[in-house]
Amino acid sequence: MSSIFLRGGLIVGESSTAVGDVLVVDGRIAGVGDVGEVPSDALEIDASGCWVGPGLVDLHTHLREPGREEAETIESGALAGAVGGFTALVAMPNTEPALDNVALVSYVLDRGERTPIDVAVAGAISVGRRGEMLAPLAEMAALGVRLFTDDGIGVQNPALMRRALEYAKPLGVRLAQHCEDELLAGGGSMNEGALSSRLGLVGRPALAEELMVLRDIELVRLTGGAVHFLHLSTRRSLDMVVAARREGLPVTFEVAPHHFTLDETSCEQFDALFKVHPPLRPRGDVDALRDALRAGLVDAVATDHAPHAPELKDLAFDEAPAGMLGLEHVASLTFEALGGPEASAVAFYALLSRGPARIAHLRAGDQRVRHSAHGGSLSPGEDANLMVFDPAARWTARSSALHSRATNSPYDGRELVGKVRATIAKGTLVAFDGELA
Ligand SMILES: [Zn+2]
Repeated sequence: MSSIFLRGGLIVGESSTAVGDVLVVDGRIAGVGDVGEVPSDALEIDASGCWVGPGLVDLHTHLREPGREEAETIESGALAGAVGGFTALVAMPNTEPALDNVALVSYVLDRGERTPIDVAVAGAISVGRRGEMLAPLAEMAALGVRLFTDDGIGVQNPALMRRALEYAKPLGVRLAQHCEDELLAGGGSMNEGALSSRLGLVGRPALAEELMVLRDIELVRLTGGAVHFLHLSTRRSLDMVVAARREGLPVTFEVAPHHFTLDETSCEQFDALFKVHPPLRPRGDVDALRDALRAGLVDAVATDHAPHAPELKDLAFDEAPAGMLGLEHVASLTFEALGGPEASAVAFYALLSRGPARIAHLRAGDQRVRHSAHGGSLSPGEDANLMVFDPAARWTARSSALHSRATNSPYDGRELVGKVRATIAKGTLVAFDGELA
């Protein structure tokens, strides 16, 4: 194995920061601060002016394999993640077929082990994600699966969701819900409001999301099972989950970069790059998400990275599939939302690494199968999953420069501040300055 010497960065701990060096030897953090003697063959990276924190963890990545390999594979998604600063991804189960059994979960875990970073799996809640019969949660949990979701769609049937929560609780696993009542969402393709009426598009009302959030909070209260709310997009959704968490209910939530960066007016040109479920919301909701991020109320930022083949995103707005890329830009967009130059480094790594690692059970000491530890405190002895971020770098997002197999990014041409400088996964430099190492 090799060693890496990160010189003179701002080391970002759980609650404080300090300038110092970090030495990585044989896959582990060997020294922090004053590291003593550095091996002569160590790869030295000048981290002065940069933040050095734990590698990012994405709770919500659509890797598309098996079934849609033309859009993304486990390998291409993992490499895009590495460039974006990620050392672990949670692969969502809405593949074709869905990840609803031990054989398919094992397949993705095996393929994930051939990538430079860790790929965990979220299993489906219901067989085929059809919302009819429970999938074998216990068998998948025995493989190390700690999150279950039918994402792409929420569990519509409240009785099935209740049973899933009752079943999940003794397993110590968490259900992750895509909150949208599909009957209320009514096949809509953007946020319902004055703008959707003017554009002549069928809208998905905010209430479709908020009603399921309300329902699931009450099901958590009834069953004691844990729910992670995926990609919340409205002020009322946030208010409800924050209040439930304050009550002590086992609920967590994530927000996605597109929901705190873009608003519904992006849909005015009928460009399907901006179609996503839940939809982009009015500016008031975007501002509420940004306020919540800065107020420390959000458990995690998660990408909902959703690759699609170009011919599908070229369809008419109401016919195109929903979803957009996120892995390679989320660090900069989160930095921007936290205030750019004013951003708290501790909050940045809490949202993108330590919070999601806790929710996905990927921290040291959590029960893990086949994965190294993530979201650590940067102490000697920890698995060396690290991300170096340059808060002063300025750059322009280019879809042509993406490492994802797909190109459906809504950020092409956007000026960004702050950039992932280096990703170190399991002790190896895997990406440097926007390229694979
Ligand atoms: Zn979703």
